[in-house]
Amino acid sequence: MGPLLRRKGRTSRPRRSSRSPHSRSHTTSAVNKLESNKDKPVSIKVGGKSFTTTAGSIASNLLRRDFVADTTEATDANALARTSGPTTFVYGVGLKGGDLIPGNSNLSREVIVTHEGIHGDRGECQLPFHELLGIPPYDKDHQQPYNSAALQLLGLSQ
Ligand SMILES: [Zn+2]
Repeated sequence: MGPLLRRKGRTSRPRRSSRSPHSRSHTTSAVNKLESNKDKPVSIKVGGKSFTTTAGSIASNLLRRDFVADTTEATDANALARTSGPTTFVYGVGLKGGDLIPGNSNLSREVIVTHEGIHGDRGECQLPFHELLGIPPYDKDHQQPYNSAALQLLGLSQ
């Protein structure tokens, strides 16, 4: 549990609102895009270690995932979402789409969903990445490579 995973009032249960229809619909559109090109590979490198995965692998990760809208305040105001085991919590900023793709909150949410789908991927789990989730500098260092991989997998960049 690193800084991004900590929340205020840790001893109390996180306040979970009902699943967000936004989150769900953007999960669906991201999964559809990923499945339409499921053999597309992507190589992700963080801190000198890399793994390769495919759009189809990320789609199946997402289909097994529970998405929960988490309106509690993230410790890091820039945090969009976090994944813990089989559950992805999407924070308020993430629900709005953040600014990953300026001016296009729908695509931004798809990138967020796909990024979270990379977490827990078999390739990630085979590397120390998995144990480093939320721990500096990994918590920051993985953001750009994962977002870049998400853009590639969604066909939004080369
Ligand atoms: Zn991440």
